Amino acid sequence: MARANAAYYARPDPLGGFTTAPEISQVFGELLGAWAAMAWQAMGAPADAILAEAGPGRGTLMADARRVLLRAAPGLAATVHLVETSPSLRARQASVVPGAVWHDRLEDVPDAPLVLLANEFLDALPIRQCVRRGAGWVERHVADGAFVEVPCAAPPTMEAGEGDVVEWSDVARAMVRWLAARIVAQGGVALIIDYGPEQSAAGDSLQALRDGQPADPLSDPGTADLTAHVDFQALAGVARGAGAAVQGPVAQGVFLTRLGLFERSRALARTQAGAQAGALMQAAQRLAEPHLMGRLFKAMAVCHPALPPLPGFAA
Ligand code: SAH
Repeated sequence: MARANAAYYARPDPLGGFTTAPEISQVFGELLGAWAAMAWQAMGAPADAILAEAGPGRGTLMADARRVLLRAAPGLAATVHLVETSPSLRARQASVVPGAVWHDRLEDVPDAPLVLLANEFLDALPIRQCVRRGAGWVERHVADGAFVEVPCAAPPTMEAGEGDVVEWSDVARAMVRWLAARIVAQGGVALIIDYGPEQSAAGDSLQALRDGQPADPLSDPGTADLTAHVDFQALAGVARGAGAAVQGPVAQGVFLTRLGLFERSRALARTQAGAQAGALMQAAQRLAEPHLMGRLFKAMAVCHPALPPLPGFAA
């Protein structure tokens, strides 16, 4: 999965067929920029704080967030650190986030209090899948283009019956553990927005999208985007285990509505011609409505334990 996605994201415009939240409405990135400014204030507005994003895609989120930040928290917006492995996406990001600094790995972001944004990043990281078979477990491996089952030890605990698939991501867990420990030591916060259930649950969520259409995950590796649900409950446990505090997860619709999604969209719509105004309000609904992106997507913050409840997480 890691190799297939690395090949996929290295293609010229891997996100061409997608509509992630920042591509749906500029208000998404603007609200996250305002959130970052308030989180930074809550941290005591440290002058050396670093603004970073993991998996910035086309750079749209950071470009929108930064417009807000340059007014609300110019100190924080001075230098932007982007964690991105794809050369083609780096080039795209450079055109909309001038002066950014790139890193291959989260661990390469320089030491300092941190404000990190990560939208639809963790779902792209490789997962493992085990299947309950009788008294034991098998792990799904890929050989000659097909799944094969190899006996394995019991996976991290989760309720599972005969034939159930249990998924987890060692890579995501290691990243969150590292991030939490860093935030405890150096201060800061990481805002994670992604899709997945609130409670850990058995089930096969591996998904392939080719040109925006569902595809077989094993056909033509590197030509489709592979993703899996993010296990927020497990990752919250990992972060707390490393000493960090966790706020949320809350449903994206609730989070964005609390941050003023509809007020901001309406204000912007008033400055636009009819069709564009309508599109802005429709985009807000798409992000917030429970049957669209509002419920499956969640927001969760991994925080230094001294931080107060942050906007969007407190009712
Ligand atoms: N956040 C963007 C794009 C999400 S797609 C949006 O909301 O539109 C996932 C992003 O993560 C892409 O930019 C991809 O190149 C990057 N990515 C995937 N795996 C990565 C890894 N292991 N390390 C760094 N970046 C990675």
